[in-house]
Amino acid sequence: MFSGKTALVTGSTSGIGFAIAKTLAARGANVVMNGFGDVQGPKAEVELVKQPSARVGYHGADMSSASQIEAMMHYVAEEFGGADILVNNAGIQHVANVEDFPVDKWDSILAINLTSAFHTTRLALPSMKAKNFGRIVNVASVHGLVGSAQKSAYVAAKHGLLGLTKVTALETARTGVTCNAICPGWVLTPLVEKQVDARASKDGVGTAEATVSLLSEKQPSSAFVSTQQLADMVGFLCTDAAAQVRGATWTMDGGWTAQ
Ligand code: NAD
Repeated sequence: MFSGKTALVTGSTSGIGFAIAKTLAARGANVVMNGFGDVQGPKAEVELVKQPSARVGYHGADMSSASQIEAMMHYVAEEFGGADILVNNAGIQHVANVEDFPVDKWDSILAINLTSAFHTTRLALPSMKAKNFGRIVNVASVHGLVGSAQKSAYVAAKHGLLGLTKVTALETARTGVTCNAICPGWVLTPLVEKQVDARASKDGVGTAEATVSLLSEKQPSSAFVSTQQLADMVGFLCTDAAAQVRGATWTMDGGWTAQ
């Protein structure tokens, strides 16, 4: 389906980005991975599902650094002829009241969860426009649409990411390039496991009980969204069928924002 296309997925060594990388590779795209932690394990899994003619690359750019992002985009241009599909997924979280929020955490969250998407997008657009094809998918969150206490930086960054999505979509509206955002609710990944563990130790309960209380507070389904469900939604946004989906903010949140 995506044979001959190259997908760059930031933060794809874990969680949602990893599922997106595998799904796009399974559908024929070359995939360039990015992210920290164990790289070889996730990369080997993506290589296992890729089509025989496709390639898997990796660049370890820190998404909080403009110059490292520039180096990564240069690598994608040199090795793969540019990104046809760009998934801005890398993200981190920190939880604290505004008055206690560490300034360095605020700066990192804004840089990784928002500014990195500006850099990758501005650097990917010229080649996408030249080819008259491009799919930019920003992994935002329900927190791009609504707030939650103690998540000021994350909520501000994700609201900003939806703004960037809309403006990019408008500026490309008469081209073959689209830009959209997906807005997941709770998804069980390492990012959320940390929040479950923190709740378990704060409330003095086990992980299972902390999970139930976390989900039932916000997510009416009381079930996690899966990384594969999100990857399939991204896959759809990259197809021709989605060519006129522009500037959308697609929730997959178990009913969170319907309340
Ligand atoms: P995760 O922690 O499993 O994965 C995050 C990925 O980003 C990893 O590959 C990590 O190495 C990478 N990363 C972190 N900092 C980086 C940096 N400075 N430079 C490069 N890579 C970096 O998290 P996840 O839950 O899969 O989250 C992925 C995205 O989905 C994030 O943008 C997050 O905000 C969003 N999201 C997650 C949930 C959820 O419930 N898990 C809900 C809504 C939105």
